[in-house]
Formats: sequence, C-alpha cells, structure tokens
Amino acid sequence: MMNCVAIVKGRPLKYRVRRHPRARHRKVTISRDQGVVVTLPPRGSMAGIDDLFKKWEDWLEEKVNNDGVWDGPVIRQFATGSTIMLGGEPCTLEISVLPPSKKRSRIFVDDRVLKMELPPEEVLLPLPALRKFLKKEAKSIFVERVEHWSGITGLIPSRVIVGERTSRWGSCSSRGTLSFCYRLIMAPPEVLDAIVVHELCHLRHPNHGKGFWALVKSYYPGYDDIRKWLKNNSLELQL
Ligand SMILES: [Zn+2]
Repeated sequence: MMNCVAIVKGRPLKYRVRRHPRARHRKVTISRDQGVVVTLPPRGSMAGIDDLFKKWEDWLEEKVNNDGVWDGPVIRQFATGSTIMLGGEPCTLEISVLPPSKKRSRIFVDDRVLKMELPPEEVLLPLPALRKFLKKEAKSIFVERVEHWSGITGLIPSRVIVGERTSRWGSCSSRGTLSFCYRLIMAPPEVLDAIVVHELCHLRHPNHGKGFWALVKSYYPGYDDIRKWLKNNSLELQL
C-alpha cells in the first residue's frame, strides 16, 4: 500500500492507496484498524482522489473524527501500564504470567488496577482474555441494572443478552429480548443505566416516536446529556 496525505477541510489526513485486481470502481473505506484506505481498480489512476475527498469532505471529516484516524490506523497497546476505562474511571493494566502451580487465568480489579494473570502464551496477546472478562462482568451488571429499572418502570424483558455490537449500544427485539454492547461497562454507570432505560422503553414503544422519548425522559430526564457523552466519547469505549 502507498502512504499519502490529503488536506480535508484544512487539516492533513493520512490515507493509504491500494489496488485490487477485482475492484471495478474507486472505493474509500474508513476503520480504526486500517485508517482511511482508497481502493483502486488495477489500472485506476491516482488523479482525482483529491477531488473525490473534496466531494465527500463532510462525510470524511465525520467518519475520521469518529474513528480518530487523521494520522492513520489506531494501534492500541494492551500491556502492563496501559490504561483502560472501567465504569468511567481509568484503571491501570497489570499483566503477569500465571504461577506454574495454577492452571486457570485470573483476572480481577483491585484498587483501580486491573490485574491479569495469564498463561505465558497469552501474556503478549491479552486482548481476547480481556474481552472475555469484560463480557462476563458486563453481563452481571446489565442483568442487575435491568432488574433495577424493571422494578421502577414495570417493563420486563424476556431475555437479556450482552455481547459485541459495533453499530449500536443496545437493541430490543420484537420478542422482548434486550441486547447490549458489553463495552458499555467502560462508560460511567449513568451512561449504562440510560441505555438500559432506552431499551426497556422499546418494550412499550418499538420505535423512536414522540411517545417513546416522552417515556424515556420521564424515567431518565438527563438522557440528552448521555447521548452527547456517547457521541463525544465513543473512542474511549473501543477495545
Ligand atoms: Zn432505540
């Protein structure tokens, strides 16, 4: 891939260009792992990329801001000393090799330190174990918070699922199953609560109409602040 720089709204943007044998048109993709990538057909010309960026500058600016990739792909390190947010507060990671006498990984939080004792082969690649731990923790917190808010609202889901969702923080199915993104465990507790209230209210209003928002705000008056917080801090909640 070739590294290039474009100016988008007066600001330098790093992007990479690649050619793909089966590409038929120019394509621009943006992600945290890859940054901004322009894919060209095998004999496509580089000329015109600047015009393309100019034409799409509003979309580009928003996406690049959201993913934090002005300077290229985001590479996050998870090692001893890295910081991870839990319940809206920074925790320091401390990763060590599991003592030979022990077989099972141990992960726990102690005084704002997230301690991970892992088998030697996982120590340098702790992310899967970290995700698994956070999912499990998130599940018990969500179950508890849903119960709490069900008691207040009288709205009771048939099931609660906690897993990975990349596009939404939560959802509510027509069968009354609520699904939540486990990464919300990294946000302040009031953010997690607000999303729980939002999804519970969908059990009565399966839409985002006036009645829905009135119900949400009757239980959670500060909901708009939570939406703003999520918009401004979504990068903090990535893993
Ligand atoms: Zn909704």
